[in-house]
Amino acid sequence: MTVPTAVPAGRTAPAAPAAPATPTTSASPASPVVGRPGADLDELIRRDPGAHRVLTGDRPTGPLHLGHYFGTLQNRVRLQRLGIEMFVVVADYQVITDRDLADRLAEHSEGLVLDYLAAGLDPDRATIFAHSAVPALNQLLLPFLSLVSVAELGRNPTVKDEIAHSSQSAVNGLMFTYPVHQAADILFCKANVVPVGQDQLPHLEVARTVARRFNERYPHPDGSGVFPRPEALLSAAPLLLGTDGGKMSKSRGNAVRLSADADTTARLIRGAKTDTDRRITYDPAARPEVSSLVLLAALCQDRAPELVADEIGDGGAAALKRTVTEAVNEHFGPMRARRAELAADRSYIRQVLRDGAERANAVADATLAEVRAVMGSV
Ligand code: ATP
Ligand code: MG
Repeated sequence: MTVPTAVPAGRTAPAAPAAPATPTTSASPASPVVGRPGADLDELIRRDPGAHRVLTGDRPTGPLHLGHYFGTLQNRVRLQRLGIEMFVVVADYQVITDRDLADRLAEHSEGLVLDYLAAGLDPDRATIFAHSAVPALNQLLLPFLSLVSVAELGRNPTVKDEIAHSSQSAVNGLMFTYPVHQAADILFCKANVVPVGQDQLPHLEVARTVARRFNERYPHPDGSGVFPRPEALLSAAPLLLGTDGGKMSKSRGNAVRLSADADTTARLIRGAKTDTDRRITYDPAARPEVSSLVLLAALCQDRAPELVADEIGDGGAAALKRTVTEAVNEHFGPMRARRAELAADRSYIRQVLRDGAERANAVADATLAEVRAVMGSV
């Protein structure tokens, strides 16, 4: 297996900002951006797709929503078309970070695969697997945990936010350690590009820290490090807001599913939080809810959000919501139809996961062997 060389250092994604997301560029909303404004990871990938490998994934806690699509899924499909090797993890062990039981795990895992394939991921080119099916990946968690202090685990802002929204009877240990588990997800296949939403930036920092500390503590005999330092790849919508004005999330009852029918989509968008100013503008800092809706329409129509806002002008929230509904239903209509077709053959979906697990296990076994060798294990 060829291992991609790490992208040059110094393109680190920033720590997650506390405020609602604003796109880090005023370029066309369809153009991807990286975590650090002005960084050129996207250009690097275009020039040399063979030097990059992607790992990305989702928790099987429910069907994917518009935030997933414009936050990461669209980027995954685009990267796949550029010819990058890609691994997509169905993060099943991470479901039980913020709840006591993993509800309908198989159904939700298969649902994620349906969403991926409907959106355009090709299982012959992308390795799609559940991480509970790849033991060597999970074993990396043990040495990795020794590289991170308890204080560092407790400081993670995304973990704090998830604790605030958790439905658990008591906060469990996995809640604090799952960012290190994510480092294992990313590093088992030596991925150096991770297309994610904004909430994942602190976790990417953990993965970068784990990679650096592991390489320093256990250098290869030839002086090289076992792991690359992965980079976050943000889209133009790193934090799409849900109907209540908070981050759109599968588990927070505020999401519009990719697979929702046209009427359900219209009803949910009609109920979305806005403000009382009739003039529609695109101003993410001052008007996060209205701007997130404007951005959503713009992304569906592949236009600049300012243009969409100008066109609606004094039409108020009702006109904005009509525009958004039409744009979403038009953009996702073909994808919904494709998903319904794929859903008719569940055995194919399960086969995709089995094939993916086989490929991921081969890669994870090789990485774990390397890790054990540099650690001096017998
Ligand atoms: P849950 O509520 O169960 O945590 P979620 O909606 O937060 O679900 P995840 O599976 O945790 O979804 O996230 C999967 C990927 O989608 C991550 O890269 C995350 O950053 C991205 N993502 C999730 N929600 C959004 C959003 N609202 N906007 C942009 N990206 C998002
Ligand atoms: Mg989440």
